[in-house]
Amino acid sequence: MYIHINGLKDERFARPLQLIANLFFEETSISLEEEMGKANIKIDFELQIGAKVEVQAVLQQNEQSYKAFYEKDLSDGLMEKEQFKVIKNAVAHVYLSVLQDCTKMVQKWGILTGIRPTKLLHKSLQQGLTKEAAHQKLKSDYLITDEKIELMQAIVDRQLAVVPDLYELGKEVSIYIGIPFCPTKCAYCTFPAYAINGRQGSVNSFLGGLHFEMRKLGEWLKENNVKITTVYYGGGTPTSITAEEMDMLYEEMYTSFPDVENIREITVEAGRPDTITPEKLSVLKKWKIDRISVNPQSYTQETLKAIGRHHTVEETINKFDLARQMGMNNINMDLIIGLPGEGVAEFQHSLDETEKLMPESLTIHTLSFKRASEMTRNKSRYKVASREEIVEMMDLGEKWTKEHGYAPYYLYRQKNILGNLENVGYSLPNQESIYNIMIMEEQQTIIGLGCGAASKFIDQDGKINHFANPKDPKTYNDSFEEYTNKKIAILNEIFNKNVLTK
Ligand code: SF4
Repeated sequence: MYIHINGLKDERFARPLQLIANLFFEETSISLEEEMGKANIKIDFELQIGAKVEVQAVLQQNEQSYKAFYEKDLSDGLMEKEQFKVIKNAVAHVYLSVLQDCTKMVQKWGILTGIRPTKLLHKSLQQGLTKEAAHQKLKSDYLITDEKIELMQAIVDRQLAVVPDLYELGKEVSIYIGIPFCPTKCAYCTFPAYAINGRQGSVNSFLGGLHFEMRKLGEWLKENNVKITTVYYGGGTPTSITAEEMDMLYEEMYTSFPDVENIREITVEAGRPDTITPEKLSVLKKWKIDRISVNPQSYTQETLKAIGRHHTVEETINKFDLARQMGMNNINMDLIIGLPGEGVAEFQHSLDETEKLMPESLTIHTLSFKRASEMTRNKSRYKVASREEIVEMMDLGEKWTKEHGYAPYYLYRQKNILGNLENVGYSLPNQESIYNIMIMEEQQTIIGLGCGAASKFIDQDGKINHFANPKDPKTYNDSFEEYTNKKIAILNEIFNKNVLTK
């Protein structure tokens, strides 16, 4: 599908318009240039910018034409960047409207192509808008449907019930610790994950660097009296290191971090069932870590094989039972909709198996073809369900969770996600993961330690500064000191600023 856009010369429009086009068509190219010749769809824009932005779009295809108009005030005092955002949204508004009219498809998330829709609702509520006014804004400015607004509100309500002081948590931090090893590498994986076999040397040096980072950061937190809200061990698979290594790591956490007893939640991803052993579970118990994640992804053996997960369905169930017997009382499980070769029947089977285990929380992801994964490079080799089937599976997941006492408490969307859907975290009452809420809603700084760990520093004005540790263990080992110092410099800057302006 080729779309020719006329009347918008600013190249900054190209990406948002491309992302919206992707919601409607599988393979799309758009051009803002004069003429493309082969265009299937032509859209003429008229844009007037004064005290308000007025924009009109006329779409032409096969002798048919569709028209839309939208206007929005440009309040005084907006910085150039903010002003462009209003203009860009106005353009997106009419563009989406004509595409919806032409294709008869309704985009339930409206013009939103970003990752965190609920952030928008939190922002309006924090600014003092009533729920009704906030909903109206989502509807008129972003064209979000009532169904999705209702979902957003349910999630926001749930989050504020679990973390009533969410809007004040900017004064604390959460910590993400990335362990970049896994037993084998899954086909759809874009995380920093290296097959662990034969790499003990690099594991040792990596852990040396990580212990250093934990000590340094802990010192800073203690000196500056900054509390930790949550800690999350991810990766990779943090349980792919040995029980002794895990033991030393958690001991370091207790020694270096301030007031660990009062951290609201500590989670360790034990994603790959093939890494879970009684010894490792005992170590987790010893350090009072009782929230883990065991990820089946699917309960169909052929699927696990096709995606490169070298464990069996039986192993997932056995390890789940073992974790339960050993006192793990907050277990999350992840399922993925749209894995190769899977349709409604396979997903229903996964839900039936989940019913036998009843984990405290269940995250339902929709497979996205992330740019770097093996599956994207070999897209033609993997047969995936149609958009309609993906929607059906998503609805099935929603219905099943509701019937089994789970409620949605966070959601995020991905670019290139099949069917323009979302990933939703569900949980039984009072079993929500606070870390997941923190990472999604961006109300506080998250400091990443270890390989590939991304830090997100959030200052008092809500401005986000991203900072990433190196992804591969070798570079990490060569430079962890430098990265730690850089992070501490940023912390000094944002926390001192916070203190000064309070
Ligand atoms: S277990 Fe997770 S992190 Fe490890 S290779 Fe598979 S998807 Fe990647």
